Amino acid sequence: MSQKPYFITTSIAYVNSVPHIGFAMELVQADALARYHRLLGEKVFFETGTDEHGIKIYRTAADLNLTPQEMVDKNAQRFKDLTGALNITNDYFVRTTDPAHKRGAQKIWQKMADNGDIYKGTYEGLYCVGCEAYIVEKDLVDGMCAIHKKPPERIKEDNYFFRLSKYSAQIRDLIESDRLRIEPEARKNEILNIIGEGLPDVSFSRPKAMLPWGVEVPNDPTQVMYVWCDALSNYITGIGYEEENETFKTFWPANVHLIGKDILRFHAGVWIGMLLSAGLQPPKNIYVHGFITSGGQKMSKSIGNVVDPFGYVETYGADPVRYYLLREIPTTDDGDFNEERFLSVYGSDLANSFGNLVYRVFSMNEKYFGGKIVKVAGCPSLFPVEEVITQYQKGMSEFDVKAAVESVLRLIAAGNEHVELSKPWVLAKSDTEKLSEVMYQLLEIVRIIGVLMTPFLPGSCEKLLAQYGEKGRIQDWARAVSWGQLEEGAQLVKGEILFPRIEEPKGESKAA
Ligand SMILES: [Zn+2]
Repeated sequence: MSQKPYFITTSIAYVNSVPHIGFAMELVQADALARYHRLLGEKVFFETGTDEHGIKIYRTAADLNLTPQEMVDKNAQRFKDLTGALNITNDYFVRTTDPAHKRGAQKIWQKMADNGDIYKGTYEGLYCVGCEAYIVEKDLVDGMCAIHKKPPERIKEDNYFFRLSKYSAQIRDLIESDRLRIEPEARKNEILNIIGEGLPDVSFSRPKAMLPWGVEVPNDPTQVMYVWCDALSNYITGIGYEEENETFKTFWPANVHLIGKDILRFHAGVWIGMLLSAGLQPPKNIYVHGFITSGGQKMSKSIGNVVDPFGYVETYGADPVRYYLLREIPTTDDGDFNEERFLSVYGSDLANSFGNLVYRVFSMNEKYFGGKIVKVAGCPSLFPVEEVITQYQKGMSEFDVKAAVESVLRLIAAGNEHVELSKPWVLAKSDTEKLSEVMYQLLEIVRIIGVLMTPFLPGSCEKLLAQYGEKGRIQDWARAVSWGQLEEGAQLVKGEILFPRIEEPKGESKAA
């Protein structure tokens, strides 16, 4: 049976600075989905990477007395380090300065040009360097970019334009009919509003004399591509569009582009137009997340509330950081990251509920049965496993990862409640048969919880499931999450405490 392909991408991070917690969240969300689809038995390709061209990078490098290449090499490495720190399972890391990417970007440009959709014109208007985008007068607030609070630059130059207007109606149809599904619904409506009566043509290149740092326009060495044209094409160049190899044929169109809300219009507008022009399929889904504030405020160096993902991982480990980002921040909305709340969520969900359940159940089974499973025939499930799995799968297929995580918390609560109500320590003195039944039920629910939590807490769940030996290996998802897999006589191994309690914020200076 051939495996179903699943291609998921994050946006590519702009490397004019170091990674922030918002990009960490995007990576973790995409990683949870990639891991889940692998567990389902699908053939997954998960791509992330860095966006390395544009005027902002060119100028930042000059300010730092570096060549642009030196600066992007240095910063791209920090983003690669972040994927390692967060235990991200990307299959490829694309960089827009890779020669293969550049050739792929030139190829899609050429296809668009061959199709009559690239023409020469004069652009006169405003450009916000912060956005790396042309903006119009009506979007300014007091003469400044609403996002960057800086006046845009006025430019007049001979550029190439992309005939995006030609594809407006087609793009609108794709989105309205959900052939290109945008989650959440509010973002779908937002982009349909932007498309309105039609999208305008886009200036698609800049004179090399103005911007010597970019991908050259095919057959015109005096021009470089507009940075968004170059950047968006990473989604196909990273899987081999240049040669249209097997990887490309297997994985395009993408199942999911996972992005932040600020760049939706580029992904659901310009990018879809580019694909249509080049004769390529549009992606199937665009998932849009919100922004992270810190202590209720937008993060900024001057306020001193910038959350450093590396500091948190170093202090608390990858899984607790992943957990907070997936469970505490609403998947498609804004949320807050602060250490007090972080410690509270860690303490209640991980240390006291999940970790404690695992530790108690294995400790009791060790004490009463020497770590062996003593099955009672036909031992029923007392837990709402099927209901939880339905909620879980709904969350994972509708981009509500938080709901999926929360569904598993129900099983953890039910497991803890079962310990309290059945009192194994009393049964140990009076009713060994009943005790063996209770222990079986607890061990089985903990195993299923471990399977379901694997996409979110991969390191901890690997340790947990290893305690079950061979039966803890997930080979078939449907079987792994169904009740009654543990066999009589199997020897389990008690592990260490998965989430040690944190009494005092340790190394606050590092994390803050
Ligand atoms: Zn701006």
